[in-house]
Amino acid sequence: MNDIQTSLIDYRIPSENVPETISESLDSDERKLLIDKVRELLIKENGTVVAHYYTDPDLQQLADETGGYVSDSLDMARFGNESHASTLVVCGVRFMGETAKILNPEKRILMPDLEANCSLDIGCPPDQFSAFCDQHPDHTVVVYANTSAAVKARADWMVTSGSAVDVIRHLHANGEKIIWAPDMYLGDYVQKQTGADMVLWQGSCIVHEEFKGKELLEMKQQHPDAKVLVHPESPASVIQYADVVGSTTAVIKAAKEMDALKFIVATDRGIFYKMRQAAPEKIFIEAPTAGKSATCKSCAHCPWMAMNSLRKLADVLENGKNEIHVDMDTIERAQIPIKRLLAFSKIQNQAIYGNNDA
Ligand code: SF4
Repeated sequence: MNDIQTSLIDYRIPSENVPETISESLDSDERKLLIDKVRELLIKENGTVVAHYYTDPDLQQLADETGGYVSDSLDMARFGNESHASTLVVCGVRFMGETAKILNPEKRILMPDLEANCSLDIGCPPDQFSAFCDQHPDHTVVVYANTSAAVKARADWMVTSGSAVDVIRHLHANGEKIIWAPDMYLGDYVQKQTGADMVLWQGSCIVHEEFKGKELLEMKQQHPDAKVLVHPESPASVIQYADVVGSTTAVIKAAKEMDALKFIVATDRGIFYKMRQAAPEKIFIEAPTAGKSATCKSCAHCPWMAMNSLRKLADVLENGKNEIHVDMDTIERAQIPIKRLLAFSKIQNQAIYGNNDA
């Protein structure tokens, strides 16, 4: 297979492989019992909860109230590193648990559901990705945070949505050609921003690729006073109407700091919990997703993120199940691209933590 053929393979996952979105339904008594149980178990197990912005508000609230943390994936791992807890319960998707393990190999990492995955991770199988890299030996391999430990172990650099443009610009200035994986929309956005020579892996996020430019334009016309916040995993047809393009942390910050009172938001609707906390007086509207033709069964909500629940959280803490294991060889190799990013950001004097994304 030659380079061009390989680079054109579509690694987006078909809709039949996307699970149904099943959110937990609890009455107030059940919710209270579970929350009390988790609080007790966290103390008993010296554990803490780190949750992603896209998880259920109950989990985000519990993390906040028990001394845990709610953020994006790298920041979640960073918090885990600084925490005195010996058990981290990562409420998010699998690559987040693995990243937490890579940066905290001595800690026990549990997850409410090990089936909680990510279309970007699934769409970048390590063997195929490694073969792809082998076909471009003169390229620097840059992977997004939303990849498995094995894919990170094959990379030269890991980047986040908040750091991608700066890292690629730096590599481009050094005359380096780049393999980018796995998100083709984010890769396209970064390529346009930097003019770098990039070969793009053809993966996508099933949530963000469902936002639609034409419908967004119509919504903008109906709400001329609203600003549009877009995550760069979205297609260029959506990004073109953005007032701010940024990571989860960046769009929450924009919602808080911009003058506007109304925002149309193109990212997973789980983010509204933190957005409303950050700017309670403002109005947030979900950007439109496709209707009948949608491949994302959840539409603006990640079905894998929805697998995290209070009931499962209590269960894994009680029974010590769903532990994340990554072998030491992979950990050591995967630490290299992550630590390279951390060192780069330090030199650039950037606040990388809090600029990552899922
Ligand atoms: S929202 Fe998209 S990028 Fe985030 S975990 Fe779900 S599938 Fe992956």
